[in-house]
Amino acid sequence: MPADLLKGQKAVVTGANSGIGMATAVALGRAGADVVVNYVAGADDAGEVVERIRGFGVRAYAHEADVSDEDQVVEMVARAVRELGTVDIMVANAGLQRDSPLTGMTLAQWQKVIDVNLTGQFLCAREAAKEFMRRGVVPEVSRAAGKIICMSSVHQIIPWAGHVNYASSKGGVGMLMQTLAQELAPHRIRVNAVAPGAIRTPINTSAWNTPQAEAELLKLIPYGRVGDPDDIADAVVAVASDLLDYVVGTTLYVDGGMTLFPGFATGG
Ligand code: NAD
Repeated sequence: MPADLLKGQKAVVTGANSGIGMATAVALGRAGADVVVNYVAGADDAGEVVERIRGFGVRAYAHEADVSDEDQVVEMVARAVRELGTVDIMVANAGLQRDSPLTGMTLAQWQKVIDVNLTGQFLCAREAAKEFMRRGVVPEVSRAAGKIICMSSVHQIIPWAGHVNYASSKGGVGMLMQTLAQELAPHRIRVNAVAPGAIRTPINTSAWNTPQAEAELLKLIPYGRVGDPDDIADAVVAVASDLLDYVVGTTLYVDGGMTLFPGFATGG
């Protein structure tokens, strides 16, 4: 990626002290953006991410906020505008799992995942869109008034037994993204989703941290490797940049072919 691809742009990345969010925040800084590193727990990790980003000569700070709390999201974006002047890129990345078979799933497990993974994206998108509309297009900075990138998942379209809360939240993110893209495109705001396949992060450690688990996982990945957070971070930088200015309302699957239904390569 060119070092100045996002020069002068201001980005907020939620859940940026771990995994995909951390890699994305660093990649945005490397591409020249100032970055707000959101975290809900783990201030030390967030501080380290901030230091790495400042090493690129851009501004960064850590901001504690729970993306499922309306007041905290409002304040997160308001502070970004106060401290950085505006926001150009919102990466709604924060997410979690609370896995259970249906009959054992509590309402609390269901609600927590919907609150963070779906309502959190709604709140972040809403607050970012208000700022994008207030400011409008600044041609020297970007052809768009703003970019919202929803971190989705292959489970936006692949059903996932034992994870109905998570799969439902990501299915919802797909429609949230498309509807917002339709609503906001006339304001020159681009809304898109990046949908990772299996990426090595703390959210899914048990899926890849033993040779047996990794072998099972690889059966689902035609490209033959588990993804790294940087695979997703680079995709987010591309979607956020003017290189993809005409990409509106699209889900970019970054999954080594997981959504190609590999079981059908030999079956069906
Ligand atoms: P992760 O557990 O490493 O990171 C998740 C981040 O979200 C953490 O920083 C966590 O603290 C934060 N978070 C959780 N609840 C929050 C809240 N209420 N407010 C603010 N932050 C909160 O996992 P990850 O794999 O990096 O996941 C990032 C995103 O990517 C998630 O949306 C996840 O669903 C998605 N994803 C991951 C994979 C994968 O294979 N790792 C695959 C598909 C989608």
